[in-house]
Amino acid sequence: MKIEILGCSGGIGQGLKTTTFLVDDTLLLDAGTGVELLTMERLLNIRDVVITHGHLDHIIGLPLMISTIFDQHQAPINVYALPEVITALKEHIFNWTIWPDFTTLPEENPIIRLHSVNVGDILNLQGKVIEVIPATHPTPTAGYLIKETAHSFLFTGDSGLNKTLATLLNQHQPELLIIDVSFADESTPLAEQSGHLTPAMLAQQLMSLEYTPRIAITHLKPGVEDRIIQQCHRLLPNQQIDRLKQGEVITLR
Ligand SMILES: [Zn+2]
Ligand SMILES: [Zn+2]
Repeated sequence: MKIEILGCSGGIGQGLKTTTFLVDDTLLLDAGTGVELLTMERLLNIRDVVITHGHLDHIIGLPLMISTIFDQHQAPINVYALPEVITALKEHIFNWTIWPDFTTLPEENPIIRLHSVNVGDILNLQGKVIEVIPATHPTPTAGYLIKETAHSFLFTGDSGLNKTLATLLNQHQPELLIIDVSFADESTPLAEQSGHLTPAMLAQQLMSLEYTPRIAITHLKPGVEDRIIQQCHRLLPNQQIDRLKQGEVITLR
């Protein structure tokens, strides 16, 4: 499995892109501003888009990408998200005011199909088994556990402390954990308020972990990235922790 990190920042500026992971060229996991790095040909290769939640930094690439490939697409693109997120996309994005309703365009063969999924659901997409997992965030949010043959990774989505995460990790033991640590410890109140982790919360989150996955930190707030990673390393010296990097291609094999 090949995971291309097109965007993994908690903000923009200086070329930073927001959450956008492309898996094996055809599966998009969140559609942030990282979508804009893809060529037309690569945009046309995307078959499925799996969305964690409706916050703008995770969906903004979707309407723009759809309108870009609208008149060239061969088969519809399937979009999967929690029911509340699907409703929000229909009501607030594809509503003819913010953007055309591409679920009805072109009339004879609409370019997108929106599908509701619930926590606990298992999707089978392109040879991958994708489990919808819970997340803790101010708006309905999911994470995803993505498996293909013997390999798997778990992306928490945006999430604060998640009571079920350690159990899920111990049960499935994905080799890679992509986890949201947006703020440094100094910003704990803000992290709690906005549903993200700090390094200390990460340490708490991983306390009952029974194995050692590779941990990739994502959604770091621009300007404090190094500080967040230093704090993670100080608090969790025995874990394999790296900052997820834009442009990085992770191969699980
Ligand atoms: Zn969010
Ligand atoms: Zn976000």
